[in-house]
Amino acid sequence: MAQSPPSTAATENHPDADARLAESLRQIWGYDAYRPLQREAMGCVMRGRDSVVVLPTGGGKSLCFQAPAVCQPGTAVVASPLISLMKDQVDALRECGVEAAAINSSLSYDERRDIAERTRAGKIKLLYAAPERLLSPGTLSFLTQFDVSFIAIDEAHCISSWGHDFRPEYRGLAQLKEVLPGVAMHAYTATASERVRGDIAQQLGLADPEFLVGSFDRPNLRYRVMRASNKLGQIQEVIGRHAGESGVVYCISRKEVERTAAALEGLGVRAAAYHAGLSDAERQQNQDAFIEERVDVIVATVAFGMGIDKSNVRYVIHAGMPKSIENYQQESGRAGRDGLEAECVLLYAAGDASTWRRMTDMSDPQAAAAALRSIDAMAAFAGGVTCRHKALVEHFGQSYDKPNCGACDVCDGGLETVDEPLILAQKILSCVARLEQRFGGDYTAKVLAGSSEARIAQQGHDRLSTYGLLSGHPAAAIRDWIEQLAGQGYLVKAGEYNVL
Ligand code: ADP
Ligand code: ZN
Repeated sequence: MAQSPPSTAATENHPDADARLAESLRQIWGYDAYRPLQREAMGCVMRGRDSVVVLPTGGGKSLCFQAPAVCQPGTAVVASPLISLMKDQVDALRECGVEAAAINSSLSYDERRDIAERTRAGKIKLLYAAPERLLSPGTLSFLTQFDVSFIAIDEAHCISSWGHDFRPEYRGLAQLKEVLPGVAMHAYTATASERVRGDIAQQLGLADPEFLVGSFDRPNLRYRVMRASNKLGQIQEVIGRHAGESGVVYCISRKEVERTAAALEGLGVRAAAYHAGLSDAERQQNQDAFIEERVDVIVATVAFGMGIDKSNVRYVIHAGMPKSIENYQQESGRAGRDGLEAECVLLYAAGDASTWRRMTDMSDPQAAAAALRSIDAMAAFAGGVTCRHKALVEHFGQSYDKPNCGACDVCDGGLETVDEPLILAQKILSCVARLEQRFGGDYTAKVLAGSSEARIAQQGHDRLSTYGLLSGHPAAAIRDWIEQLAGQGYLVKAGEYNVL
């Protein structure tokens, strides 16, 4: 009796498919090798097996669907969240000689008709659109009028309210599976915990998808986390070590972007600002100046970076704490995409977490709870004393075995430490106990500092044995130490008010 083919065949690429992919990589893109997991991810597309692909920023996700689109008959439909992202990919594809188009609201009637005609004629290999456009009744019926080779969902974490960039319009994408039965769907993202990964598969209605998760470690990045003391000076110190090289400075607010960019320019640094408050033209102009290296430093809010492909960024400085480890990984990950050494510096203050908590949209309780958990995880990372590479990789559910990464402040011993940390920690924990674990970090720090604030006396806490126990230190420093103890798990923040 003939044996059925071994089950491993399902995960092995067909030799023909492999040859065609390799050929197109070389001829169209000029690449002679795959990046990690690209071959496996492309294999899923070629075989029509639904997939969830998680690769870090710079890992080469777009090629995972672009190359198979070129190697298959029909048109691949790509859902992407931003017009600028689509435009960049379409432009890059056209430059390589691949027929691609994006449908969006800025097109004229004639342009749209032209794209529709060329798609029906089988001339377009990749058709991009934002989810809300794909799901409009007109587009849905259009999708049934041509041969859709597969559906790719870019930035797929946007579908999950557990993720850090939830976009409700992504939820509707599951409809595509109904409108196009039998067409495989593939989801791509740079940031997904196991929970988000499962959520992506479930929300999209993927059928027994293959999960491909790349390594999150970026060994060429050197991480350093510092308390913000004299921010501009700290930023200047990093920039000074990278004269003439490209770098990004992320700030939490637009105001801080403006102020920092102006200050750097005043110091003779070639810097430009980028945030959502600038006009489209200004933003484009500043982004181009950075990419074309007419300025060295771009000072930006998180609005900057998605879809920007500049491989020689030598440092990324966070002038404030980002709102999640996912954000941190993505933003710091823009450094060193060429694989050469690059530096990531995070300056944080205890107040950053409260700033993010205040800015959290509370309208969707599930999303708000996830956002608050993300802020806490980020604060714990910043205040933590675990190897940064290890902490990041473990956050994304992978293990990190090296005892010393050789490329972070913790492993280098560059972490600022205090004298007698044990006694300091005991004093703080003792004060938390005397306050009967009913107060938050700010209040506890003030009691330890011996603050004369009225509410402390009103509560009788000026009579506690721990009142003023750390009066030689500023309350802000004590607040930081409390944050660090929480980061290391010695203290837990509980409830709505983050009671210790
Ligand atoms: P991601 O979307 O995962 O952040 P991109 O798709 O933008 O990453 O790719 C990052 C960079 O790597 C791009 O410049 C891309 O052209 C390049 N790249 C992708 N795959 C390869 C490869 N196999 N060989 C060489 N360069 C590649
Ligand atoms: Zn380390």
